[in-house]
Amino acid sequence: MEFSELGLNESLLGAIVEAGYPNPTAVQEKAVPAALAGRDLMVSSQTGSGKTAAFMWPALNRLTQDSAVKARGPRILVLTPTRELAIQVTDACRKYGRGLRYAKAVSVVGGTSYVMQNKLLAQPYEVLVATPGRLIDQMDSGRIDFGRLEMLVLDEADRMLDMGFIEDIEAIVDRLPEKRQTLLFSATFEPRVMRLAERLTKDAQRIEI
Ligand code: AMP
Repeated sequence: MEFSELGLNESLLGAIVEAGYPNPTAVQEKAVPAALAGRDLMVSSQTGSGKTAAFMWPALNRLTQDSAVKARGPRILVLTPTRELAIQVTDACRKYGRGLRYAKAVSVVGGTSYVMQNKLLAQPYEVLVATPGRLIDQMDSGRIDFGRLEMLVLDEADRMLDMGFIEDIEAIVDRLPEKRQTLLFSATFEPRVMRLAERLTKDAQRIEI
């Protein structure tokens, strides 16, 4: 398959082609068109499979269209288990979102200064990449408005469960709009991941790589 067959907007394709990859990976071929169709997804995929792009491309594709809701705060929320992964995801968002007018990414992770983070959250942005603990802190201080949230991504959901984030994830999801698209990525579909997916997704399409 060619990148141009994935169904992505032209302004996004430019940055993808510039990355110089020969073809979409298997997870990209399956997950991108399904996500663009608006489905909730649960995707089994390993690190190195190209999974970050598989959710970031359809997420950014949403940002090529105006939000239907007038609000501040993120249109896309990506939850990751670690700050390192959050930073990689934020970098990917900036790389692929370069050609888009409104695709500013902010990361909210532990171990960084609140002063800096609060400043970034006070400015307009569209993509929020966060680890659960620090995100809860910022939500409790009223700095994040989820009024225009369209998409939730859970990256490495199995690792988030390993790290004991289940209650944080539930507390976060309780405060998101019901009407949203949810993409859950995990290395495995073990029972506890399935239970989480049942709680967070609606009629999710299963993609196994
Ligand atoms: P990930 O699975 O997201 O951890 O991605 C692993 C690596 O694959 C990253 O360094 C990406 O830059 C790279 N990558 C993403 N998409 C492709 C592709 N279509 N072809 C080759 N490499 C890719």
